[in-house]
Amino acid sequence: RSKYLTNVTDLTKLINKDIIKEGCVVIDATVGNGYDTQYLAEKVGNTGKVYGFDIQKEAIENTKKRLEKEKLFNNVTLILDGHENMDKYINEKVDSIFFNLGYLPKLDHNIKTKADTTIAALKKSLDLLKKNGILSICIYLGHDGGVEEKEAIEDLLFNLEQKNFDVLKCSFKNQKNNPPQLILVEKKVD
Ligand code: SAM
Repeated sequence: RSKYLTNVTDLTKLINKDIIKEGCVVIDATVGNGYDTQYLAEKVGNTGKVYGFDIQKEAIENTKKRLEKEKLFNNVTLILDGHENMDKYINEKVDSIFFNLGYLPKLDHNIKTKADTTIAALKKSLDLLKKNGILSICIYLGHDGGVEEKEAIEDLLFNLEQKNFDVLKCSFKNQKNNPPQLILVEKKVD
């Protein structure tokens, strides 16, 4: 069989495999190249819905083309705006939300997620999740501001009330050079 514990983005999909089903409503908070958006669109099918956010026009346009080519665009709403504004566009509860933080390697490395907007978006995400909905956040530490962003995220999520949320953190402990980290949150209340 192929390798199982590959990286945190694959681990995110593994955890969400049985949670995201046909008909689910999900959010890709950082569209980028659209790999996750495509994965989510395939999983939720024609009866489901994907909302995708990115602040880079090129990311949104490239992803739109990718989805149209795969005939997946009809269940995806791509939004050229920051994820911190997600509540302006989404008026329904959702099953799963993906954040893949940092910058897009192929585009401008200076355009990246930042602690204050990430925190604003995470607070709105916690509100938008359904009961038993899952929030998955891949965090990168190698860039300027990465550690500050991680600390702000942990400060918010590690202090959530246990009666309302379960919070899990995974990271590869024997990898060198600041490997990415994954935080998962399950909402326990409506
Ligand atoms: N998930 C993507 C994929 O499958 O290719 C990769 C995402 S990349 C690591 C991070 C993305 O977050 C970049 O495309 C960047 O433009 C975007 N971004 C930065 N700040 C943002 C914000 N406030 N709201 C939404 N997207 C943002």
